Amino acid sequence: MNIDFAPELEAFRAEVADFFASAPTPAIREAGRKTTSVFAPFKECMEWHRILFEKGWIAPHWPAEHGGTGWSVEQRFIFAEEYRKADLPPLLPQSLGMVGPLLIDIGTQAQKDRYLPDILNGNDFWAQGYSEPGSGSDLASLSCRAEPDGDDYVINGSKIWTTYAHHANRMFMLVRTSKEGKKQQGITFLLLDRMDYPGMDVRPIVGLDGFPEQCEVFFDNVRVPQSGRVGEENDGWSVAKHLLKHERGGGNAASPTLTRYCQRAREAAAETRSPFGGMLADDPVFQQEMGELEADIATLGHFEKLAISGHEIARDPAFPSMNKTMNSELVQRASTVMMQVSGVDGLARQLEALRVGSNVEPLGSEFDLISMPLYLNSRATTIYAGSNEVQRDLIARTAVGS
Ligand SMILES: Cc1cc2nc3c(=O)[nH]c(=O)nc-3n(C[C@H](O)[C@H](O)[C@H](O)COP(=O)(O)OP(=O)(O)OC[C@H]3O[C@@H](n4cnc5c(N)ncnc54)[C@H](O)[C@@H]3O)c2cc1C
Repeated sequence: MNIDFAPELEAFRAEVADFFASAPTPAIREAGRKTTSVFAPFKECMEWHRILFEKGWIAPHWPAEHGGTGWSVEQRFIFAEEYRKADLPPLLPQSLGMVGPLLIDIGTQAQKDRYLPDILNGNDFWAQGYSEPGSGSDLASLSCRAEPDGDDYVINGSKIWTTYAHHANRMFMLVRTSKEGKKQQGITFLLLDRMDYPGMDVRPIVGLDGFPEQCEVFFDNVRVPQSGRVGEENDGWSVAKHLLKHERGGGNAASPTLTRYCQRAREAAAETRSPFGGMLADDPVFQQEMGELEADIATLGHFEKLAISGHEIARDPAFPSMNKTMNSELVQRASTVMMQVSGVDGLARQLEALRVGSNVEPLGSEFDLISMPLYLNSRATTIYAGSNEVQRDLIARTAVGS
């Protein structure tokens, strides 16, 4: 497969760059520069989502008949590169990258008609209710119970680490509908139309970086319609695994973001004195570390192009786990380098200055402002979407057959 870009694609690149230079509001730009997580500030992120929708560019990875752009692999990668160069807020993955592609693949026609348009136009934002206290890596042990009752299910139990559930108006979730047989056999996948059903309580959790990003969600006799079920009752495990392939797979590329982090680290290092004399950017140890990091990011970039193109290597069952493991560890390495470049200037906790629209002047540069929250937040990348230890186990079992 040829993964170099043909010269005629430069016109496409210029069109994308022009749009990114003119379309975002100042608040959207600020949100992008201040994003210190895979989850951008919600309000500005959804404003940007709607602008991209109006342009027809909201879901490049969706099939064209469902609202995708019909772009080639190269165009999609160029789009991702220009997106990161412009420091725009990353789109939230739960709707566009998880439940949307799932419904396209295996939803009923009624579910597609009902939910896909509002995912695309940004009217809806979906939370992912998989994990529970004690059921994260061992997800199949989940115990949040749904009892059939007439045309409804009645749900009791709780979910945890549900990202942005306090912003969501819909949620997809796994529930236990049977205790018979293997634990994987009694799980059902449900779509919830609302987050304010009577008996449902969403409580944000403040993370290590000081921001409320994840939530606990409690269910006390919550009655939801059975028509929200995807797949058969008790067959939700296969639906859940299908969705996880999209979550861990290569619908979106991480390498352009990582490349941008490296650029920002290099720019900041050019302005930073080395304790050994001269500027940090010229320090041989810094240069070696950056070189190794950038080479590994380039490898990830090739990997992501294979995924985006649907290459047969990317259809290997171990591929999503390899992709997830590689990109999450590179995020941590890149943020560690950024933190090292900031040094003591990055140590101050500046939650107010980080808020979009804040009038508080940051101590140090904007790079120093984001480096510590990014470093802290990226500790989570090797945990969410299935921890890397568990991914390595999956790789060993599927690729090596052990
Ligand atoms: C920032 C963030 C966002 C998240 N967002 C969501 C969300 O939106 N929706 C949602 O449903 N969940 C979400 N999660 C939850 C996430 O999926 C779980 O945290 C993850 O699956 C790990 O589960 P756990 O936290 O229960 O840890 P545990 O499963 O208790 O694992 C603890 C440690 O033990 C190790 N371990 C466990 N089992 C094995 C094994 N078999 N072999 C080797 N090592 C093992 C793990 O690797 C880990 O290091 C999020 C988590 C984070 C951190």
